[in-house]
Amino acid sequence: MTTPPTITLDAAGSPEANALLTTMLQALQRALRADPGDVSVLERALSEALVAYDAYLDLVVTAHPMSCRAGCTACCHDNPRGVTGVELERLQRAVGALPDAAAVRAHFARLAAARTDADTWRRRRETCPLLDAEGRCRAYAFRPLACRAFVAVTPADWCDPGSPSYAARVNPHLDPPRVILQILQALSARRGLVVATDLHTGMAP
Ligand code: SF4
Ligand code: SF4
Repeated sequence: MTTPPTITLDAAGSPEANALLTTMLQALQRALRADPGDVSVLERALSEALVAYDAYLDLVVTAHPMSCRAGCTACCHDNPRGVTGVELERLQRAVGALPDAAAVRAHFARLAAARTDADTWRRRRETCPLLDAEGRCRAYAFRPLACRAFVAVTPADWCDPGSPSYAARVNPHLDPPRVILQILQALSARRGLVVATDLHTGMAP
């Protein structure tokens, strides 16, 4: 199997980017110091952290234009890995507000039951239960970091496993620093939630 090339995104290591990631870190650290049972404090901290993270993503993709556009969906035919319990809990609340919540959950359960290794799964091109007919995420504001971090430098159609250029695609993965994921895992453990899993398994009832 060909390993896609890696690239360096200078803006991701800039002082401005680091300041935004520090804001994200501080918001989550505040949540760690708070009462684990106080969901409103956790929600405020997660919202603040995600605002900072989205600003970080904006900064990087402005400096290094990506191919990602609204309605572009190949990456929503995968099963994001490394999703933490507190992110899933938040996404579950957003799904609960949808009129067809039961059908969405049942769809996640079907996908989770059919789970395979990541490469095999990508080639199946199963649609995320939260993707609408126009190719938009129905829980966009609540999507996990793994969804937010996934971008492409190479043409969008290369992200499709059926593309002859798939092996040459470049997806930089703008994941936050490991310490941020560790705090999200710690917050999840404090609330008795799963530490980390894939999206489909985590969203199945
Ligand atoms: S990662 Fe690829 S499929 Fe996903 S939005 Fe970006 S270009 Fe489109
Ligand atoms: S949760 Fe939203 S962004 Fe993530 S894979 Fe599903 S539709 Fe795409």
